Formats: sequence, structure tokens, C-alpha cells
Amino acid sequence: MSSTKNPLLNNLDHPHFGKITPEHVQPAMDEIEVLVDETLAKVEANQEKSWEKIVQPLEELDRIIGAFWGPVAHLTSVLTSDELRNVFESTQPRMVKLGLKISQSEKVFAALKEIRDSAAFAGFSSGRKRLIEKQIQSAKLSGIELTGEERSRFNQVSQELSEIATKFSNNVLDSIKSFSRTISEPTSVEGMPQDFLKQASLKWNNKNPEEKNKSTPEKGPWLISLDSPTFIAFMKYCPDRKLREAIYKEHITIASKGALNNHPNILKILELRQVKANILGFKTYAELSLSTKMVKSTAQVKELLEKLTAASKKYAQREQEELEKYAADLGLEGEFHPWDLAFYSEKFRESKFAFNDDDVKPYFPFEAVLKGLFSLVNKLFGITVEEKPGKHPIWHEDVRFYDVFSDGKRLASFYLDPFSRPENKRGGAWMNTCIDRGYHKGTLLKPTAYLICNSTPPMDGQPSLLTFREVETLFHEFGHGLQHMLTNVNESGVSGINGVEWDAVELPSQFMENWCYHSETLINMTSHFETGEKIPETLFKKLKKAKTYRAAYQMLRQLHFATIDLDLHDNFDLTKDIFKYNQNLATQILVNSILPEDRFLCSFQHIFAGGYAAGYYSYKWAEVLSADAFSAFEEAGLDNVSMRKVGKLFQETVLSLGGSQHPEEVFKKFRGRDPEPEHLLRHSGLI
Ligand SMILES: [Zn+2]
Repeated sequence: MSSTKNPLLNNLDHPHFGKITPEHVQPAMDEIEVLVDETLAKVEANQEKSWEKIVQPLEELDRIIGAFWGPVAHLTSVLTSDELRNVFESTQPRMVKLGLKISQSEKVFAALKEIRDSAAFAGFSSGRKRLIEKQIQSAKLSGIELTGEERSRFNQVSQELSEIATKFSNNVLDSIKSFSRTISEPTSVEGMPQDFLKQASLKWNNKNPEEKNKSTPEKGPWLISLDSPTFIAFMKYCPDRKLREAIYKEHITIASKGALNNHPNILKILELRQVKANILGFKTYAELSLSTKMVKSTAQVKELLEKLTAASKKYAQREQEELEKYAADLGLEGEFHPWDLAFYSEKFRESKFAFNDDDVKPYFPFEAVLKGLFSLVNKLFGITVEEKPGKHPIWHEDVRFYDVFSDGKRLASFYLDPFSRPENKRGGAWMNTCIDRGYHKGTLLKPTAYLICNSTPPMDGQPSLLTFREVETLFHEFGHGLQHMLTNVNESGVSGINGVEWDAVELPSQFMENWCYHSETLINMTSHFETGEKIPETLFKKLKKAKTYRAAYQMLRQLHFATIDLDLHDNFDLTKDIFKYNQNLATQILVNSILPEDRFLCSFQHIFAGGYAAGYYSYKWAEVLSADAFSAFEEAGLDNVSMRKVGKLFQETVLSLGGSQHPEEVFKKFRGRDPEPEHLLRHSGLI
């Protein structure tokens, strides 16, 4: 197929959805590989080390690769098929190789350093400076400067680490898979949700095909497994205390026994990470991890975690006393155990805030929520959002295309794919970039975002009605979208969300979620789908209160995870017993201690098999930033004039500067000072 006919090539505008098929992927990939080789050879051979001759051609190349691979990856998530998934999976390794070829070119690396050290560098825009510095840093962290034995040791350690991480993950999965328990006594499941019983019955039938669908949701038997959704629901609703104890104890010992024991893997991972950090010139792995984050030092993270712990403790104690008293009133005998926590928390919650999703949903028809959201961003940032049906091709009839204007000028665009479509769309919600703002061959391209949700679709003649969580999710993703769309940076590698340190990237998204608890904003976007009534004040108050229900407990739990993560990566003495250490730490941080046999670390995938090593604190950090940012609006007063004034500043800093400046500077430009955790504590009801 000639490249002129392939819709994945030579198109830097919006993708030709509707024309792209799986057959286009391989031929496009072939051409892209040739293009990369040609461009890289040309750049590497360039004698002139300048932005125009080195960085710009690579930025342009990156855009062409993105315009090819972006739509393929996107469609694999939102309109998938077996053919597409197959071609995606078989092409992905080639993409990874391509990326490495560019980022690990020693000639490009040397050229980048030469540019950084040249006299011209001082006169560069902050975007150009940051882009070059970030590329140098990332090449360094991938070991580009190492030579001889150090280099081979580094490569060997990296290889080994990735293998053990996979093993760690597989052990967790296999351990979860190897466990199941049959419940036959109907009294053990009394009062449990219908959905749960349906699933548990289905699982039992699948496991026992010879019994020919003997199980029914009403009469059982039911099968219990240890995967998160099942486990969480089970602990919340199972009235059988003995059974809760048994399942709880299985859960805290996942992947900690026999052939699937992850303990040796943890020790090996920690040892090798320390080695890797040392080879790269860092004292600890935590230092290495923080070198690419907004937070600067281990001490700074520790201080934050300790401050939040100290502030939350007495509230957590009070919550716990209250809960234990409630449980005793309901007839719980003896000591309050860890397996009683979720069960009585849920019962207590139901008794305090007697509302459920079905009470709330009628007030949140999707169209009304969307209107409310657009009117909020108009108030805050002076932008208007207009739907443009048919302006660009879409991938499904539910999808809408919008332009975003400021002073009559188009700033950006976005696609919105709002409803769940289990047959071909991945679950969850996300924002992704379609077009990045930046220059390409002299033309400034404006940004376009993909906003993807999985909200309840319209059904049986009823419009789409959102749960409150779905409303929050829409605001969250729109927050990411704002940072992508309102950027004014002209270097695509650091415009919008690109190049933003990952512990800062959730600032705009969580910031937007805050508005769902602002009474005027929220009440104004409600409109009962039959009567048009606003949500009753009492119901809104319950929604608001439910947000901070057992907030101190939740806070301490996250702080415990963040602290153990940091400690283990901060030159931890591996001759110590990590489980004992973890238990001591839990005793210091939590108000309800953990059992001596707790082996949660053996299934802590975030830090041992995911990207959160010495970075788990990021969850809390992002909340600190967004709560602090929102309080700037609260302090100014939430009337229209003040909102617009602070909104303008927020737009000119956090939303505009993207990755073109260090997030600490960006935050200071907005707030006039460093972030303060007090605002998060206040929003969580912990002050
Ligand atoms: Zn997010």
C-alpha cells in the first residue's frame, strides 16, 4: 500500500477514524521504521549542533510517529477487535525498539549536551531549555554515559530487575488464582448484595462444570476468590464473622508461601535497585526515584508524611472508638478485629448517610452535568465550549467533537466518548492526547484531547443518569484535558501534560473534582430528569459528608503504604526482618494495628511490580497540591468576579505552562509560596 493511501501516514490533522483498519498498521510501521533510520542518520551526521538542526527534526519525527501510533493505541482501547488487538500486540515491541533507538543514540546525546553548554542556550525559551534538559536526564538514567564493566553490570541489573518484577506479579496472580472457597450455608451470605451473589454463583458454576449449573444466586453454593473486587465486597458485606476472619487471613498472606513466595523476590529487588542507584551516582534508590519528581528530597517526603500522620492520628482514634462502640451496640462480642473493620464501617456508613446511587442519579442527567461543567469553566477561565458535529470523523456514534474558544478564537478541541460500551471499550476513564500543541515545519498546531469515560448509557427510553462518582470522574478527566488544551507552550515535548513530573500531573484533575462539592456549582448542574428539580439541600449535604467519612482512617492507611515504600528504598538494612519492620511501622502510624502474620508486602505490586517505587507518596502529594490550589479560590471568595480573577491566574500558570517549567516554580507562580498540607487536612475534615 502506498503511503499516500495509508490513513495512518502523512496526516498531522485529526485522525481518519472510520477509514483506519488493522491492515493499515504493519505497512505504516514499515515506513515509519525507514523514516526513523533516515532521520536519525541525518541528525546524527549534522555538524551544526543547534535547536533547528538537532532537536527540531526529532520533535517533528516524534509527531509523525505519534500521528501513526496514537490512533492505533486509541482504537485498541475504545473500539477494539481481535484483529486490532493482535496487530497492536505484535507491533508494540517494534515501537519500543524504535523509541530506544532514538533516546539512546549517543551522538544525539552528545549533541544535546553541546547545545546545553552553548552560549545560545541562555537565550532559549524555558520550554526549549526544559525539553533539552529532560532528554539529557532521561538518557543518563538509562545508562547512556556508562562504559565498560559498569555498563554491562547496569544492563544486567536492569534486565534482572525487569524479570523479577514480572515474577513478582505472576506469583501474586497465581497465588490469587490458586485460592477459592465454597460457601454452602445461606446464613453466611444473608443480606449480601444481589450482584455479588450472582457473580459468586456464576464463579462456582464455572469451577464445577460437571455439576451442570447447580448453583443459583439465591441458594448457592457460592465461590469466594481473593481478587480485589470480590475480596473488598466480601469483607464489607459478609455477616459470618468466622468466614471473614478466614478470608482476611488468606488475603494478607497472598504470595507469601511455598513456590509462590515473594519474600526472596522483594529482597532481591531492593538489593538490585540499590545497586542500580549507586551505579548512576545516587546514594539510594529513593534519591534516584525523586530525581524525576516534583518533590526534591527524601527528607521533604518524610516531613510531609509525618506531618499528615501526626495531624490525622487523633481523628482516626476518635473514628475507631466511634466505630467500635457502634459495633458493640449491634452485638459484636469480644475484641474488634481487622476482619470486622470493613463490615462495620459499611454498616455504620449506611446508618449515617442513608442514600444510595439510585437516590442521587435522577438529579444528574448527563446533558445537564455537561452543561454545568462547561458553564463552570466559562466562569473560571472565560472559555466557551461548542459542539461541532461532523467537523472531524469519530469512531462511534456516541462520540462528540468540541471546539474550545477564548475571545472568539479557537484554542483547542476535544473528543468526548462518554458512555460505557463493554463489548469493545476498555473500562475506567482517562484523558489522552490526540494532537499536542507545538510547531511542525513552521506551523503552530493546536491541541486536541481524547476524553474517555464509562458512564451509564441512556437506557430504555431514559436519558443517561450519572452516579455522583461518574460526575466526579468526568470533572477529573476534564481537568487533565484543560491542562492539555489550555497550554501556551510551543514545544510539543513539554506542552500541556507532556513533561510534567508525575507527582504533579494529578493537580488539575483533582482540582476540578473539588468543584463537585461546591454547592452553587453542583446544585446548578442538577436537574431531575422528570421534574427538572434541583437536588434537595439535604441530599447534597449527605453527599458532602460522605466524602469525609472515616477520612482519617483512609489517610493513615495511605500514609502507612507511602512510608514503608519510602523506608524500604532509602538504603534499608536488608539483614532486618522486613515484615517485623512493617508491623512496627504500622503500630506507629495506624490506630488499628496489623497482625504479626501480615505479609501484605508480598503482594504490594504498586512498588514491586509497578511504577510507584519510592513514589507511592505521589497520591498524597497530588492531593496536597490540588487542595491547596482549590483553597486559593476559597480564600478569594467564590463569587463570580473573584473566581474569574483566580481562574485567570490558575490558567496562566498551572494550565498554561505545562512541562515547560519545574512544577515547583509553576506552583509558586500560582500560589506565591510552596504547597502547604493544611488545606488537604481541612478539606478532609482533619483540622
Ligand atoms: Zn487522573
